[in-house]
Amino acid sequence: MSQHQARKRFGQNFLTDDGVVESIVRAIAPARDDAVVEIGPGLSALTRPLLERLDHLTAVEIDRDLAARLRKQFDASRLTVIEADALTVDFSQFGSALRVVGNLPYNISSPLLFHLTAWADHVRDQHFMLQREVIDRMVAKPGSGDFSRLSVMLQSRYRMQKLFDVPPEAFDPPPKVVSAIVRMVPLPADRLRPKSDRAFETVVARAFSQRRKMLRRVLADWAAQVPWEALDIAPTARAEDISVDRYIHLSDALVEAGV
Ligand code: SAM
Repeated sequence: MSQHQARKRFGQNFLTDDGVVESIVRAIAPARDDAVVEIGPGLSALTRPLLERLDHLTAVEIDRDLAARLRKQFDASRLTVIEADALTVDFSQFGSALRVVGNLPYNISSPLLFHLTAWADHVRDQHFMLQREVIDRMVAKPGSGDFSRLSVMLQSRYRMQKLFDVPPEAFDPPPKVVSAIVRMVPLPADRLRPKSDRAFETVVARAFSQRRKMLRRVLADWAAQVPWEALDIAPTARAEDISVDRYIHLSDALVEAGV
């Protein structure tokens, strides 16, 4: 196998279980001419089987040694290796209807998911391996203890589906947590969108800053400007009780009130 020493700072846990690799590739179901971008190809556990099914693949890898190794292993006409931090990459350069995949470095999963929302209009779908606990929060529905800022922000842009769990033994070195695979499909452009992304982000972050408290208390500074009844938000509602659409309407109401 490899001479590569796994680097903790890059969240390197390499997938070694062929059965899991096959299940992931089957879930992605690539067609030859799909535009696929892999984040963090590492030692090519997913890269190789994907390339068997694709004409071309683009891979973004931060680790210089791994990037060099990939360039040596694969023909440049089939695999384009971008040596970069995925958090700084402009994904629109790769085209449209992108299929983004990756066994993501868990230490940057939330910032990376948020970074990618900026390019959601260029994306057909995303399949990611992440910490299971994070995926549970991503797909959680209102009223559940897992419903959080991450759920609202991502569900306002994507339809999400948890596919299956992956145990620590499937990796080398094994991570301390159970992982899972999530499928994310951007919502259609005509779906309800906040009037101001910034206002939406601010309202949602503020609401969940004290998730056990009543929303009217948490948002006390703005409460007078919010048409609570028209928005059908109960006086006792807490952050975790409010649907994604209601958060959008709430943030729009604050924008309209000039808050
Ligand atoms: N895909 C491989 C696999 O399944 O075995 C490796 C997965 S490992 C969990 C995460 C990979 O992402 C590593 O190759 C790591 O070097 C790379 N990585 C970490 N941070 C990154 C970043 N900011 N941008 C791009 N790649 C990154």
